[in-house]
Amino acid sequence: MTESSKPLPAGLRPETLAVRAGTDRSHHGEHAEALFLTSSFVFPDAFEAAERFQGRTPGNVYSRFTNPTVSAFETRLAAMEGAEMCVATASGMAAILSMCLGMLKSGDHIVSSQSIFGSTVNLFAKWLTRYGIETTFVADGDPAAWRAAMRPSTKLVYLETPSNPLTEVFDIAALARVAHAGGAWLAVDNCFCTPALQRPLELGADLIIHSATKYLDGQGRVLGGAVLGSKALLQDTVYQFLRTAGPTLSAFNAWVILKGLETLKVRIDAQSVGALQVARWLEAHPAVERVWYPGLPSHPQHDLATRQQRLGGAIVSFELKGGREAAWRVIDHTQVCSITANLGDTKTTITHPATTTHGRISAEERAAAGISDGLIRLAVGLEAPEDLIDDLARGLN
Ligand SMILES: *Cc1c(COP(=O)(O)O)cnc(C)c1O
Repeated sequence: MTESSKPLPAGLRPETLAVRAGTDRSHHGEHAEALFLTSSFVFPDAFEAAERFQGRTPGNVYSRFTNPTVSAFETRLAAMEGAEMCVATASGMAAILSMCLGMLKSGDHIVSSQSIFGSTVNLFAKWLTRYGIETTFVADGDPAAWRAAMRPSTKLVYLETPSNPLTEVFDIAALARVAHAGGAWLAVDNCFCTPALQRPLELGADLIIHSATKYLDGQGRVLGGAVLGSKALLQDTVYQFLRTAGPTLSAFNAWVILKGLETLKVRIDAQSVGALQVARWLEAHPAVERVWYPGLPSHPQHDLATRQQRLGGAIVSFELKGGREAAWRVIDHTQVCSITANLGDTKTTITHPATTTHGRISAEERAAAGISDGLIRLAVGLEAPEDLIDDLARGLN
């Protein structure tokens, strides 16, 4: 903190923190956050260098450990999530890997939702098992099923809510009780809601994972990630792993995402309002079999979603009566939506999960996961909802 940064008063609201938290001005007094592109930091003398290396005095040493722009991003996101500490990482997957390798050891067990990001399934099922960390996947949201999957060696319970692509909502408070009763931590991947819509720590979660690549940047520019939680949980584990192993967030990406956080709430609010409008229109369309959107009363966990998240979010999935052919027709007739598997952008993206994101699993596994050939996932952006409706209508009518 320098003289040109006034301390913030206590009790500021999240949208104020999104704009103001983490500001640590240099002696130049710049208004916008500075970008510190430097790999190392200089010391006034050999004594101070030795003190910093030993961790006896605070301050930056090397950007694999800490960097002022990365620290600004960490401070701001921690304030928004109500977390004591944030460790920024190079990507969302680097966040999940750093959490697991920093906090678990061979012989430990994970209980995870089956409805999670594909690469996370792969990380747990294929890679962590090579190091003696086993995962049991749970197929539904019933806390009894999660309780039954717990073992004495279970250290981590892991979920995403709402899930991708069917927007299944998991009860964070109930699953935190299951995790804690078994002596495990609950980690929530808060990628789809962000702290603007859902604050998992307040509901009992111990750890939050972010792919900052999605809504936190929100404009499809850079990769980034974060692990959040208490200092007691993260400092000697995830942070020490990161500074040794190096899956560190670059200062440039931190700067881009830091500025993305300032507009997060207005973006995700507008995208949620647009998504609800599109979802209502789809639900009334005769060619549509079913719509999955947490903000619709027809959603199986609508009440839970209303309690747990401030708005429905920007992901809408819908199933067409005409199967794969009808789904591809709708996708191929769009002129506004981008055909891409990414999400969390201001530009609306449209995806056919059965032949892309979930194309490599068997037809039976897809059926078990509820991913039919007629399913389309829409990640609603900031275009006028009426234009998105017209775009979908081209192939639907
Ligand atoms: C994209 C995504 C990830 C992985 O993030 P990357 O930044 O691509 O590594 C993890 N979880 C969810 C829910 C995601 O959508």
